[in-house]
Amino acid sequence: MDFLKRRLAEYLAAGRYRRLQPVVERLDGRLVLADSDDRPLLDFSSNDYLALSQHPQLIKASREALERYGVGVGAARLMSGDLALFHQLEREVADFKGCPAALLFGSGYMANVGMIPALVGRGDVVFTDRLDHASIYDGCRLAGARLLRFRHNDLEHLESLLNKERGTGRGLVVVESLYSMDGDIAPLAELVELKNRHSCLLMVDEAHATGLYGEQGGGLIQAAGLEGEVEVVMGTFGKALGSYGAYVAGSQTLRDYLINRARSFIYSTGLPPAVVGASLAAVKLVRSSPDLRQQLAEKAAYFKECLRAAGLPGTAGPSHIVPVMVGSGTIALSLAEECCRQGLFATAIRPPTVPEGTARVRFSVTIHHQKADLAEAARLLMDACRTLAISASF
Ligand SMILES: *Cc1c(COP(=O)(O)O)cnc(C)c1O
Repeated sequence: MDFLKRRLAEYLAAGRYRRLQPVVERLDGRLVLADSDDRPLLDFSSNDYLALSQHPQLIKASREALERYGVGVGAARLMSGDLALFHQLEREVADFKGCPAALLFGSGYMANVGMIPALVGRGDVVFTDRLDHASIYDGCRLAGARLLRFRHNDLEHLESLLNKERGTGRGLVVVESLYSMDGDIAPLAELVELKNRHSCLLMVDEAHATGLYGEQGGGLIQAAGLEGEVEVVMGTFGKALGSYGAYVAGSQTLRDYLINRARSFIYSTGLPPAVVGASLAAVKLVRSSPDLRQQLAEKAAYFKECLRAAGLPGTAGPSHIVPVMVGSGTIALSLAEECCRQGLFATAIRPPTVPEGTARVRFSVTIHHQKADLAEAARLLMDACRTLAISASF
């Protein structure tokens, strides 16, 4: 097993070493790490954007489902593990996303690695945005289809690949609607036009947009008025919806097909009832609470103002995800460590998660944060940059 040690030493030297940091307590946007001497840190690394993971309505619904159905369902859904509660959530999600049908998956990762190989295979071609999530790339690898990556949000590059490489098999274009590491948005209307012109299917991963955009929080497809134009819509309950698990929404035929073909659906135990109960409450709550989305947008704008006022150069991105760019992976890591010493928890994002030379510390604003927290965070971040003589921008 010596090669494992050698590899780990290489990761350490290259600033790519990953380690776990156990959290012993989480409260109101702060967390206490096992090794932070009980000192609460302001948490800017969470995807719990709407603070729903702690919401009393979700906790109550989760508890009710737990007490009614037990801890687990004891089987895959195609065996005896198919609770009516799952179908209730699927109908709610279909409405929420403006699609005829939806199917639950164990997680977003499982949805992507199960669904993509069900849709395409040898002889087909997948066009992905370079910044697509790892689970999308893993799904493509399992599919065995030809994979062509276009430059991030670059429609001209995508079009030139479509012109040259579309081929005669099935074509699938896969994008995210809101990119998790850059906080920017895909040009969805143009993508719909392009995929139609080249007879491709379009799959949109709304992991970071679900709950946050559109009149009912359905996501960026809803906000752009493109419901019904995207064949495969995917999202997770693990981010703004505060729970766990994921869904694919689309036509009834897509749902029936995935039940028959998506291996991560077929060969895995159904989600725990407590989780499904919480997700159902989350979707209902989000649909009827535009104020939550409004609050998040205001707090995100305020945080960017604070950064500018503190002297950090930057152009405001459109979302609550604010990457502070520093260049190399080792610098990102030392900045994140210094922030942590100052009382601020944000994650260093390094290659291979992002392209070489674009390492960053990612700040995500949630509605856990109070205005004073946001101003404090900007100040602590600038202090950390000064201490380390790092020039950063956002
Ligand atoms: C987080 C994420 C996933 C995975 O979802 P999980 O439910 O956490 O497994 C998939 N795609 C994107 C774009 C994500 O950000």
